[in-house]
Amino acid sequence: MRREYASPYISDLPMAKIGVECDRCWMRRRYVKAALLARIGDQNLPDLLPKFARAEGCTFTANVFTDRCRLRYDDESRIPKPPPKDPP
Ligand SMILES: [Zn+2]
Repeated sequence: MRREYASPYISDLPMAKIGVECDRCWMRRRYVKAALLARIGDQNLPDLLPKFARAEGCTFTANVFTDRCRLRYDDESRIPKPPPKDPP
């Protein structure tokens, strides 16, 4: 599949479930990755957050400049960073 963005996609995540959390509205959700892919297809992860927030009814999503929704992927649902390289 052709990718429009360089940022990671759902299929890049190694875990079976994807967790999101918002510290504004205290929303927490876990999505089964396979079910998500079947339902909405492979999508760019940053773009997906506002869609999740809207779908789950976060009241802060509509705010553009201030007091925005702070939905993010939880600590277990990030792409593991490569280990730091040894300094030369
Ligand atoms: Zn929120």
